[in-house]
Amino acid sequence: MLCFNCKTKLIENAKYCYCCGEKATQERLTLKRLFQLYIQTFLNLDNLFFKTFLSLFYTPEDVINSYIKGIRKKYINVIGYFALALTFTGLELFILNNYFPEFSDLSKTATRETAHLSNQIVKSLQSHQTLVLICLIPIFTGITRLVFRKNKTYNYTELLVAHIYIFAHTTLITVVISIFAALINLSMVNIGWGLLVFKTLYLGFVLKRIYNKSFKSMALKLLSISLLIVIIYYLTIFVTISFIYFVFGETYLENLIHQ
Ligand SMILES: [Zn+2]
Repeated sequence: MLCFNCKTKLIENAKYCYCCGEKATQERLTLKRLFQLYIQTFLNLDNLFFKTFLSLFYTPEDVINSYIKGIRKKYINVIGYFALALTFTGLELFILNNYFPEFSDLSKTATRETAHLSNQIVKSLQSHQTLVLICLIPIFTGITRLVFRKNKTYNYTELLVAHIYIFAHTTLITVVISIFAALINLSMVNIGWGLLVFKTLYLGFVLKRIYNKSFKSMALKLLSISLLIVIIYYLTIFVTISFIYFVFGETYLENLIHQ
């Protein structure tokens, strides 16, 4: 008997090829078999997703360390989880923009002067969300590395894996919460700060777990991280506005704000 795939000679009654892993029995493909295969593949993926999703709440250190150590079958790998989060974000944007256009409208709460600019910023941030996300992760990783510079447990790349998992996980939760909020007539203004607090606390929780820190020491580290993020955030806005001012001129900037 020869393997159907690689033509290796197999022993009688072999169930699989010892060389390439192909099935040795030939069975006709039936609709029932096709359905079984579909359910098998789908449910396996499903289980792995829920296992990864739940473990990132209870034992995020296990998900992250498993990936770093090279274990690939236990959880969804970091790139897969990130891709999944981006897919769901795209779906969220589609649902919110088409069915709940008021959700991300800031004009009701912001002062009239800045409403237009805020909406412009939100719109452009949303349409470039993927890019913004991908650009921010290496920066957040750098900040964490700086704050934990005396601890050599993780190198930059390993810490990057942790941050991609953190981003993907908080993004997935944000998608669920945003759509739920839109359904009960809340807007982004109502939940924005809550989500920001949740994301910061989750970052602190995961870093506490992977670095095995005490609550007090982690609180101080998280404060340093948040402070650095706020400084970078305002510095970026300042640089952007200065850039617009010097390149396009004062009138352009005023028009942008008062339009
Ligand atoms: Zn074979």
